[in-house]
Amino acid sequence: MALKIDLDKCTGCGDCVDACGMEVLAIEDDKVKIINEEECTECGLCEDECAEDAICLED
Ligand code: SF4
Ligand code: SF4
Repeated sequence: MALKIDLDKCTGCGDCVDACGMEVLAIEDDKVKIINEEECTECGLCEDECAEDAICLED
């Protein structure tokens, strides 16, 4: 599984960053960015939290 981000959909709201307890994500230039993918536990909280369907876990 890998994190996939659709930057066209991302509004930079930061909800996924707040949802992630592993500090995998950050907001940079008003868009979400993966900064620490090694720490991702694939819990799916970021995907659940995003109202824009801009971030998802993918095979
Ligand atoms: S929750 Fe969705 S729209 Fe908000 S910053 Fe994260 S990916 Fe972007
Ligand atoms: S799947 Fe979980 S650990 Fe990985 S970035 Fe999303 S919230 Fe963080």
